[in-house]
Amino acid sequence: MKVKIERYSGFCFGVENAIRLTEEALKSEEEIFCLGHIVHNEAEVKRLEDLGLKTINHDEFRTLRNSKVVIRAHGEPPETYAIARENNIEIIEATCPIVKKIHKKIRKHYEKTGTEVQNLIYGKKEHAEVVGLLGQTEGNSILISGLEDVIQINFNKPAEIFSQTTKSRGKYAEVINEIKKGYEKEGHDPEKMLEVNNTICGQVANREPGLKKFCSEHDVIVFVSGKNSSNGRMLYGVCSKINTAAYFISDISEIEESWFDHASTVGVCGATSTPRWLIKKVAGRIEMIPGKKK
Ligand code: SF4
Repeated sequence: MKVKIERYSGFCFGVENAIRLTEEALKSEEEIFCLGHIVHNEAEVKRLEDLGLKTINHDEFRTLRNSKVVIRAHGEPPETYAIARENNIEIIEATCPIVKKIHKKIRKHYEKTGTEVQNLIYGKKEHAEVVGLLGQTEGNSILISGLEDVIQINFNKPAEIFSQTTKSRGKYAEVINEIKKGYEKEGHDPEKMLEVNNTICGQVANREPGLKKFCSEHDVIVFVSGKNSSNGRMLYGVCSKINTAAYFISDISEIEESWFDHASTVGVCGATSTPRWLIKKVAGRIEMIPGKKK
């Protein structure tokens, strides 16, 4: 049985950057906190916690004083920075530069147009990155998590839309289409009423074509990702559409030998939040499984 790892699976540069900054901070003698899990991957969180990183939630963050706190790649709303200033908390800024740029764009637009132009955020409810995006407009944005939320839009007012960086391009296009239909129904030109920002990150979306090809080339696919990873769920969806023998796992203990009973080739891949070392560990474990049954 041949086992192959997909070439591009593993951390995106935003997560890689956040992990590097955190590892550097952990070299100091000081206590280092991280606001939320550094990455949506349990194994990598554990590795960094073993090095001394302390994960805290937002309630714990509010009670913290005179400390150092990592802001992970997903970013945070302005409120978090205000609390840090008040409580003498030093921020270790690991927000992905791409996310930072989107924050800036939303803020700039909001400062210019206020509530005259509706600010729409397409993303998963309560996802950390989405909380950060929504926070840029003082609570004046409309969250669109799916087609059913489009009803909240006032189709007699212009709007601008931004997407969470890890969403699927296809689903974003469906939402945009639905919004345009809403404007048309009210007799408006959707091209004039809706400004679309292409904020889906190429580090996720560009993996789709390669992943599809990879999944079609193997008998069995093992996709490695944290259970709460948005891009993991999205990319696994891509894999399972192409290959019906695609399995989602977070840890090697979840591997079942029977999956490979009739397999000659196995492909191992993962999300932008999956460490490469874990993907290699999974591939190594599968290689140890006895050959195919006739
Ligand atoms: S997926 Fe893109 S935007 Fe998100 S952390 Fe990675 S590089 Fe940054």
